[in-house]
Amino acid sequence: MNEIKQPKKPLIFYYGIVLLILVLFNFLAMPWLLQRQIQQVDYGTFMTMTDNGEIGQVEIQEQENQILFTNKDNTQVYKTGMVEDPDLAQRLWESGAKFSGEIVEQMSPILNFLLSWLLPILIFVGIGQLLSKRLMKRAGGANSMAFGMGKSNAKVYVKSSEGIKFSDVAGEDEAKENLAEIVDYLHNPQKYKDVGAAMPKGLLLVGPPGTGKTMLAKAVAGEANVPFFSMSGSEFVEMFVGMGAAKVRDLFKQAKEKAPCIVFIDEIDAIGKKRDGQLRGNDEREQTLNQLLTEMDGFEENSGVVLLAATNRPESLDPALTRPGRFDRRVPVELPDLKGREEILRVHAKKIKLSGDVDFSKIARMASGASGAELANIINEAALRAVRSNRKYVLQEDLEESIEVVIAGYQKKNAILTDKEKMIVAYHEIGHALVAAKQNASAPVQKITIVPRTSGALGYTMQVDEGNHYLMSKEEIENKIATLTGGRAAEEVVFGSVTTGASNDIEQATKLARAMITRYGMSEEFDMVALETVTNQYLGGDASLACAAETQRQVDKQVVNLVKQEHQRALQILSENRRKLDELAQFLYERETITGEEFMNILER
Ligand code: ADP
Repeated sequence: MNEIKQPKKPLIFYYGIVLLILVLFNFLAMPWLLQRQIQQVDYGTFMTMTDNGEIGQVEIQEQENQILFTNKDNTQVYKTGMVEDPDLAQRLWESGAKFSGEIVEQMSPILNFLLSWLLPILIFVGIGQLLSKRLMKRAGGANSMAFGMGKSNAKVYVKSSEGIKFSDVAGEDEAKENLAEIVDYLHNPQKYKDVGAAMPKGLLLVGPPGTGKTMLAKAVAGEANVPFFSMSGSEFVEMFVGMGAAKVRDLFKQAKEKAPCIVFIDEIDAIGKKRDGQLRGNDEREQTLNQLLTEMDGFEENSGVVLLAATNRPESLDPALTRPGRFDRRVPVELPDLKGREEILRVHAKKIKLSGDVDFSKIARMASGASGAELANIINEAALRAVRSNRKYVLQEDLEESIEVVIAGYQKKNAILTDKEKMIVAYHEIGHALVAAKQNASAPVQKITIVPRTSGALGYTMQVDEGNHYLMSKEEIENKIATLTGGRAAEEVVFGSVTTGASNDIEQATKLARAMITRYGMSEEFDMVALETVTNQYLGGDASLACAAETQRQVDKQVVNLVKQEHQRALQILSENRRKLDELAQFLYERETITGEEFMNILER
């Protein structure tokens, strides 16, 4: 329900207004209008007219001390003041005037009728019109049954020279290849028909947020010179059952009229969720989905309408939607790899002024795991930082700092750590780095800093992978767990006590250890049995346990043992290198930020 409701005014409010207008009208406007019709004359004129027999009707209003009279044809009303005149009645009688009691009322029957009947009716009708218009608007303007509406509000993109093109989307070559075929088909459908090949009716773009799905769809519109209907799944979901379905019908009707064309539905999971027959079913959503399924069956292959949809929760989609003949092709749009990240950085860097020393490949390596949207953000943050320091162009330093801003937040300017705390943080961070460096399989340390950040981190160690990593060996994961426990281990070795600073490390280490046992089949006891299933691959990767309670207990025990074992290893490494640990921590304490190179120099001295 994406309607914004206006505060409702009760109906009585409007009737109140009508009543008020009527009352005001009768008491103020009517007498005033009538007054204007009456012409004031002096008594002498009245006398003359009486003597000449020019008076039609006459009314003596003693209380108001005035005389009203009309001319012979009764077309004009006159008024004059009363004067003491005992013969007046006699003279009027003789002049042939009629004595009347209601000159004003009968003065103009048409005007009277207009004012007292027609005008109020007109006012009522006007207000009625206004009311019904407002009601229609409130009903979403789309109640197909009641008001004959139900239009889809799809945005239509038509070819434009400055629109997004495939070249603006960096990386994602496989996705682009897939979509390029669609573009080619739309340009030249005959080529495909000749061979007898049918284009898929629908393509589903799946991937984590910010990887450029929407952008790719727009690029298809930019490349293919065809109309492009774009709509978000949530726009179909309406307050009233049946309205979403009407919108789907309308969208397809328009699309078929404009074929060849592309219809893009963003976040299709909003309507395409599995119909799981739960008690709390959503009738409106299911009807909309049913309509979509029917419409997709309804248009023939090669009709020229190609449906694109994007989602980051493909597993929640209804199987009927993803079966062949509907969205039969799935285009993965994954997080960019090293090369992809570099290309995305270059694409976005075109918009800003750069100094000569910028090394994109290093930035790309530092930003491992970042999505396209995050990379675009990094570039923009760097440009903002350059402006803040009154520079005309962006330096490598700006980019490196902005990665940290995107990962860990801004530097906290006025967070004041006590000396003791700062020392603990220094040892903690060096603990991570030293454990990582002593196990040669771990990625080299890029930078260590103990400047507090707005995210709450008091310091961190940035590690950088040299290249792409698709697989991780058991040893590598174990080393990673040891590295994560290294911070706490350093506190224990040096201070003999522990702090709360390791909570995030603990969380990550536990997650890794659990995944090793329940998902990667890396424990001897459970062998290659999946004890957990990932439910949300692209949004955080939540997993749910699928095993007996007894097994869970054993898993927990193994997780504890594994982490404990790696923690012990970290403690051992640090105790063996206690001198280096002190030396490095002291250095970091003084400098607050040290680079990987400085770190290695001291370590190898
Ligand atoms: P999604 O729909 O996958 O959530 P978008 O397509 O809306 O993501 O991407 C958001 C922004 O991220 C884009 O406007 C663009 O600036 C940037 N972006 C994402 N992927 C890429 C890419 N491959 N190349 C260039 N820019 C990208």
